[in-house]
Amino acid sequence: MSTEEENRTVFDVAAASMLTKELRDVFASGKTRSYEWRISQLKSMIKMCDEHEEDIADALHQDLSKPKLESIVYELLQRQSYCNWDSGWGFGTTRFECTGEERSIRTITMLKNSCALAIKELKQWMMPEKAKTSLLTFPSSAEIVSEPLGVVLIISAWNYPFLLSLDPLVGAISAGNTMVLKPSELSPATSSLLAKLLPEYLDVSSIKVVEGAVSETSALLEQKWDKIFYTGNGRVGRIVMAAAAKHLTPVVLELGGKSPVVVDSGIDLQIATRRIIIGKWGCNNGQACISPDYIITTKDCADKLVDSLKKELETFYGENPLESKDISRIVNSNHFSRLTKLLDDDKVSGKIVYGGERDEANLKITPTILLDVPRDSLIMKEEIFGPLLPILIVSKIEDSWDVINSGTKPLAAYLFTNNKKLKEQFVMSVSAGGVTINDIAMHLAIHTLPFGGVGESGTGSYHGIFSFDAFSHKKAVLYRSFMGDAALRYPPYTLGKIRL
Ligand code: NAD
Repeated sequence: MSTEEENRTVFDVAAASMLTKELRDVFASGKTRSYEWRISQLKSMIKMCDEHEEDIADALHQDLSKPKLESIVYELLQRQSYCNWDSGWGFGTTRFECTGEERSIRTITMLKNSCALAIKELKQWMMPEKAKTSLLTFPSSAEIVSEPLGVVLIISAWNYPFLLSLDPLVGAISAGNTMVLKPSELSPATSSLLAKLLPEYLDVSSIKVVEGAVSETSALLEQKWDKIFYTGNGRVGRIVMAAAAKHLTPVVLELGGKSPVVVDSGIDLQIATRRIIIGKWGCNNGQACISPDYIITTKDCADKLVDSLKKELETFYGENPLESKDISRIVNSNHFSRLTKLLDDDKVSGKIVYGGERDEANLKITPTILLDVPRDSLIMKEEIFGPLLPILIVSKIEDSWDVINSGTKPLAAYLFTNNKKLKEQFVMSVSAGGVTINDIAMHLAIHTLPFGGVGESGTGSYHGIFSFDAFSHKKAVLYRSFMGDAALRYPPYTLGKIRL
């Protein structure tokens, strides 16, 4: 057994209990409440990203072989952001030329944007918000005070293991909490890098990293937390929520689901297909929570759409996508065999119109399109979370709303159309965590929009001020004076008092 493994086995319920006690004492000291502490941690996080850009990119490459294309595309998308790499923070442009191990700079850029935004806005976020009062309490004034919740737990997933660990941490720090981060064991290189770097850059007495899998997470979940922020699948989400319920701990659950894309006729098909491709295969080869899970379109559109997808896929990934360096691999052999089972289901036999190649030794599956799949096939029963894209055919595009609403509520829903009425109908009829019209995933990049699920795709949200709110309690405060003390309030309740 390696020293690392030995250390891990000692993290049991007793160790978890000691850890939370330590953090509770630090929280009680008031250290993490100050504006200065919060800002210093956020600045250190940016410094950590700057000084370890290569190490972070290397770890992400080891865990997922994140490709260059992904980072370039997302760097372009980040141009109108808060983070000006060359001259501090403020509105500006990010550089988007690629240097060195650029594959995963996208993730780093997004995190730096979150930190930079929090640094810029924190004073405003922390300020008590004035609230209106009523005649009933006249004279009085009221405000809503954001107070830190206390000791919080963040459990993150493997698919964007750096961003999904540290982006919630930005919210927890901004709100003034102490915290434990538990990264995913399925992305071990990133997990151990986080365990090494965070104590070097952040306040180790207030921010802890616990590495490990089910037993370590279970030990943590036995403890009383003031908030649990979990990113991952719904099965574990239920375990987290049940554990939290024992202590009446509030949770944010960032889960997944089957995110649909509805494609109408009369659109710029080339732009639509390019955006679908980048949203699906350009994001971790479909292993992203808001990746398109399936397409719904009409019969007259389907063939044109498939032709366009094939053409653009070939432009991006060449004739042999198995050899493309621009596509991530599948995270591990369990997920590889889960995905191949979906393809080998009899109900979709003969439905593959593009791709379907696999390389088990290198955990690669090429972009795969399946046309006119039956709704009772395996691939339509669970979140795909991989490079397979089924297309469903409906008689008229409005029938898509029922198809979507007959399943569980997705994390994201997309519509490509020029028809104003359809856009309105889609927004009003389809329940989803978030919606983007005529693009994929881009609502996630807007920090003024909350990011989160609804129903089985999750509860609660974060990003921008919503991250601060997720880790704060909104305390109602009323200030009264000794004036306006109406006799009517106090017994004995006599009619005489009312007439007065
Ligand atoms: P995962 O396997 O990394 O698990 C997530 C976390 O749960 C890990 O830290 C893991 O250690 C912990 N865990 C696993 N089993 C556990 C158990 N029995 N008890 C306690 N903790 C346990 O990630 P995953 O679940 O495979 O992630 C993929 C899912 O996450 C997909 O459904 C995806 O859509 C969703 N996701 C959602 C978001 C979002 O922001 N909404 C982001 C990424 C992924």
